[in-house]
Amino acid sequence: MQTSFTPTQLMDPQIASSEKILRACVHCGFCTATCPTYVLLGDELDSPRGRIYLIKEMLEKDQPATREVVKHIDRCLSCLACMTTCPSGVNYMHLVDHARERIEKTYKRPLIERALRALLARVLVDPGLFRLAIVAGLIVRPLAPVFELLGMRRVAAMLRLTPRRRPAPPFEQTGKVYPAKGKRRGRVALLSGCINPVLAPSTNEAAIRLLNRHGIEVVVAAGEACCGSLVHHMGREDEALSQARNNIDAWTRELDGEGLDAILVTVSGCGTTIKDYGFLFRNDRAYASKAARISAGARDITEFLAKLHLPAGGASTPLTIAYHAACSLQHGQNVLREPKDLLSKVGFVVKDVPEGHLCCGSAGTYNIMQPALAEQLRARKVANIELLKPDAIAAGNIGCITQLAAGTAIPVVHTVELLDWATGGPVPGPLAELAGREASAG
Ligand code: SF4
Ligand code: SF4
Repeated sequence: MQTSFTPTQLMDPQIASSEKILRACVHCGFCTATCPTYVLLGDELDSPRGRIYLIKEMLEKDQPATREVVKHIDRCLSCLACMTTCPSGVNYMHLVDHARERIEKTYKRPLIERALRALLARVLVDPGLFRLAIVAGLIVRPLAPVFELLGMRRVAAMLRLTPRRRPAPPFEQTGKVYPAKGKRRGRVALLSGCINPVLAPSTNEAAIRLLNRHGIEVVVAAGEACCGSLVHHMGREDEALSQARNNIDAWTRELDGEGLDAILVTVSGCGTTIKDYGFLFRNDRAYASKAARISAGARDITEFLAKLHLPAGGASTPLTIAYHAACSLQHGQNVLREPKDLLSKVGFVVKDVPEGHLCCGSAGTYNIMQPALAEQLRARKVANIELLKPDAIAAGNIGCITQLAAGTAIPVVHTVELLDWATGGPVPGPLAELAGREASAG
């Protein structure tokens, strides 16, 4: 794609990097076929190619974001299916991140929307506040249809996503070391983060148990908190970078102290952002090399487990598992085989979900901010999963787990909980009834 940035514009490193991305696009349109919003809406401006044009116009003309740009960029899930499909290697992720930041800085959203975004940016990244919000949501949840009738679709969507039970107490604690059982074979940091310990403490509990059992010491680094991913996707770059710096410092202390073999992440949305810290801080003299070091050490939990040689065939209940590939894992990190191979190895029957490249509609805060599209995508995903008649659904991202669980009666669990169970851990909570039934039938 030809561009016409001025030399002065190109002196801005962010513009220079986006210009390179724009030039790589050859307008072929292959990406449109796999873009969920284009598949649903059929509008070129809701395709990757259309959005790339809109971003190019906005950046080249050095203008504030228009309503039209905001509408179509807001509808983008940042699912990155377009990047997997693109034959020219266009880094749409970095381009749309730049666009979101520009929108945040130059476009004044309606007051209600600004308030809602500010609230989400504050509450979701603070486990204490988020826990309180969930307890309040539990009480108000039955009123979701009323909010819907009043036209407050986003509030209704938020309430429908609220879990039906009070959050369990957090499991892992920052600053705590979980020693290996037997001979220590390695040492890793595990991201605790913000949403995960509130919505699914059982995930990291299973991860720690599994790692410890296989000789891996786990530390949840002191001072570690939200990785910055949530606000990064809202274009709130200063907040995102500040949260990222905090975690870079926390993990650097561990790397320089007792050392780490890897920084493990059980939420693939966070993993994608942490693996991109090197890029985010490329122009920051104080943090560039530290950030690159953290990105180089970051791994999805399944990437690390794949090298641990888990024992084969341990699953006493050989359930059929529909593996839902989170976009951030398959498109963002190119982690495709590891989760499925691990699940098969320990004895589960693993099935691929038809149209597996399409997002489930979760996408950070997308299912709150764009509820109509998110619900259509979830319905399509659930229909595809139900075709497989699985006993359970496995996924590697809390966003997808919450989104799918709100749309189906099939239990949804994190991949690591199944792996833990099959190698000596307890039955994952959502599968307790099913496992009991299978045991009595057997
Ligand atoms: S990130 Fe996803 S929704 Fe956005 S343009 Fe690419 S494929 Fe479409
Ligand atoms: S597939 Fe890649 S090169 Fe082709 S239009 Fe999409 S982004 Fe551009």
